Amino acid sequence: MDTQAAAGWQHDGSFYWRQSEVYALTSALVVGRRALWLVDPGFLPREVADLRRLVDRLAARQRPRARYLLLSHADFDHILGVHAFPDFKVVAAQAAHRRLERSLRRGRRIDGSLLIDRPASAYQAFPIGEAVARRTAALPDAILAPISSHTRDGLLGLLTGYDGRRILVVGDHLSALEGPHLTDWPGTLPSFEALAGLLAQADWLMVGHGPPARRAEARQRLRDDLSYLLGLLRRRAGGASETQALALPAPPGPSPEESHRYHGDNVHRLYQSVEPAAASGLANRLEALLQAAQG
Ligand SMILES: [Zn+2]
Repeated sequence: MDTQAAAGWQHDGSFYWRQSEVYALTSALVVGRRALWLVDPGFLPREVADLRRLVDRLAARQRPRARYLLLSHADFDHILGVHAFPDFKVVAAQAAHRRLERSLRRGRRIDGSLLIDRPASAYQAFPIGEAVARRTAALPDAILAPISSHTRDGLLGLLTGYDGRRILVVGDHLSALEGPHLTDWPGTLPSFEALAGLLAQADWLMVGHGPPARRAEARQRLRDDLSYLLGLLRRRAGGASETQALALPAPPGPSPEESHRYHGDNVHRLYQSVEPAAASGLANRLEALLQAAQG
């Protein structure tokens, strides 16, 4: 890789990543033996253009390869760069279909408030070429699994580079910058079980915001997040009030205000969606997962 194409990018062998100056959104490119995998290409127009250049340089040198664009989930910040890659097949969880247009509208509003100039095509719904609905699916150099936790349209991807490096893409989970912020509590257990299973096979963890992590650090992040969630589930299972659950320490967030908001949302959604008896069952499963992650 020449340094010009890689300006602003970090890489380890077949795995390239770059953090945006906005939201610390992390985009990635994994060069596999059979496919190029692009992940969450964003956010600022200049960064999207840089990514396009990097892709073109790599593709010119190493074709032919299938081109896939993995969307970790359909939050607006992760999808506003998709328009620049019409030659890539978009791979997303099937549930992402439902949210694309709303997220793109939100992106347009936020761009408008910041005076970010983006082509109109950036806000048009794009086709999802591979919508993953099954528990796991395989594509060239990738194992995929839909999850429902931070959002209901998450997609895990275990990507394998040409050099054998395996990179697990998890979207907005296990970030060094922020703890769990859940939409779907009942879905979180099977989601984290799938995540932990794939993480055991990965060399790198690639998260939606902030730096990627090697396996040992990724496992520590997993334990931290599971411990936080377990604390909340135990309170719910033990009949504690919502106020008592709120008294537990909040997860890390990009700012104290956001951390407080994540915590409030997590507690509120837990009390809305999970009865105490069900919380007890979820807590037991989560504890088993935490024990396995400690081994
Ligand atoms: Zn995000």
